[in-house]
Amino acid sequence: MEFLSSTVFLVFAYALLTAVATGIGAIPFFFIKDISPSLLGKSNAAASGLMLAASFSLIMEGYNIDQWMTLAGMLAGVIIIILANNWMEGRSEVKITDVASGKRMAMIMFLGIMTVHSFAEGVSVGVSFASTMEFGIFIAIAIAVHNIPEGLAISLVMVPQGTSPLKAVWWSIFSSLPQPIMAVPAFLFVEVFRQYLPFGLGLAAGAMIWMVFADLIPEALEKCEPKKVGLWVTLAILAMSAFQILIGH
Ligand SMILES: [Zn+2]
Repeated sequence: MEFLSSTVFLVFAYALLTAVATGIGAIPFFFIKDISPSLLGKSNAAASGLMLAASFSLIMEGYNIDQWMTLAGMLAGVIIIILANNWMEGRSEVKITDVASGKRMAMIMFLGIMTVHSFAEGVSVGVSFASTMEFGIFIAIAIAVHNIPEGLAISLVMVPQGTSPLKAVWWSIFSSLPQPIMAVPAFLFVEVFRQYLPFGLGLAAGAMIWMVFADLIPEALEKCEPKKVGLWVTLAILAMSAFQILIGH
């Protein structure tokens, strides 16, 4: 029990760090007024690559235990994320400028959308920690780096509209807060029902792969040519694989 509660704290702390990393994306705005959209496109592409590589690590981790259960989890993950996304999209668009100016409904909607987005990321971190501590840290680092361009994207909308860079840092972190909140129950669930760990790993992977192609890649392609998107996705996967070799996982 003692062990469990200290591990829960660690999971929460690491997942919170991944959320804090989102704030790093706002930091360039302290020094420059605007950032070229193509840089945003490239960093979205890099974020996609990290997410894809992390997803396949989750699948491999699941395969070590139970291949079919991992695949069943993937199917569940993609269904859940599509349903959650449709449900959110059914309720009006949110303008990020309304969020920054403190319109309450817009803030709630923004958090809702970010919760759907952060769901897969939080679950990934949680279930990875249930697998092993070092795998959890590995996935947490991947998600943290992946979050930086997300903060950049949020700040890129907010700062030119008059939000201060410091506030943009807070809004970026705020947008990722659902991650630590999702990570803890996901961790506890697979910790208690250990036999479903591969299902949880697959679920997170399925939801993240969907998100890469439904959300991140289209966004990258809006700002950057396909050839460059391809390059940055590949480089990110390469970097993540090299990192995996270096830490000897
Ligand atoms: Zn994300």
